Amino acid sequence: MLNITNLQVFYDNAVEAVRDVSLNVPEGKIVALLGSNGAGKSTVLKAISGVLYPEKGEITGGSITYLDKSLGQVAPYQIVRQGIAHVPEGRRLFDTLSVEENLIMGGYVRGAAEAPAMVEEIFGLFPEVRVHRQRISGYLSGGQQQMVAIGRALMGKPRLLLLDEPSLGLAPKVIADIFQAIARLRDEFGMTVLLVEQNARLAISVSDYGYIMDRGRVVLDGPPDQLLENDDVREFYLGVQGSGERRSMRDVKHYKRRKRWLS
Ligand code: ATP
Repeated sequence: MLNITNLQVFYDNAVEAVRDVSLNVPEGKIVALLGSNGAGKSTVLKAISGVLYPEKGEITGGSITYLDKSLGQVAPYQIVRQGIAHVPEGRRLFDTLSVEENLIMGGYVRGAAEAPAMVEEIFGLFPEVRVHRQRISGYLSGGQQQMVAIGRALMGKPRLLLLDEPSLGLAPKVIADIFQAIARLRDEFGMTVLLVEQNARLAISVSDYGYIMDRGRVVLDGPPDQLLENDDVREFYLGVQGSGERRSMRDVKHYKRRKRWLS
């Protein structure tokens, strides 16, 4: 459904944030894009949804193809109309509007007639926010706000959902609910999801395939079981250490060496 080939992105003509990244997101699957801070994950999502421009970001190489058409020169609002919804890091709700109003705002691409039924579907997916439908969204918990942010994106009936760190800053129980909802979107509604996460274990647990980015590049990719078995993934992204002992400086040097090898 989505194919990225040799993508290169610069900020300010100076910072190369993404370098030679290729990835494939098949229809009806959840694909995880993993990696540590600053790896370039959010930049890939912004390149797909066409919102690099306000940050002086620019695609300087490669291509992004969605449903066999290039997204190269397509404006962000047209990308939304083509069925791609982006839930950015940090939720970014309309804080002074109610939950229901936030959802309705997300449905503008589909027209007013479909909105009430869609709102009910979203409350079915996230029952926890149904009772807060009239509340000002700025007063909700972080988890509830994340649910509303995902719900608002779904109001446009996207075919491809881009999720940027939905677990950020949330409690484990809330994260579990949100990831369960993401899996339901795929399993019951056939949604395709590109999921950016720093929480690798969690993301791999719901994904059909995963890519790992490091300093702007994809350094590893594979199905979940393969990623979970990979020694580098276990050590660097899942925090699994064979001995269970604290790392010594020697280990840190070893880490750096291995990381260099990885990338
Ligand atoms: P995080 O989880 O911290 O958001 P990330 O993997 O999503 O990390 P990006 O936010 O895509 O990484 O950043 C990739 C690189 O691009 C980093 O080196 C970052 O400092 C740089 N970068 C990101 N946004 C900008 C910007 N607006 N202007 C200049 N450089 C930027």
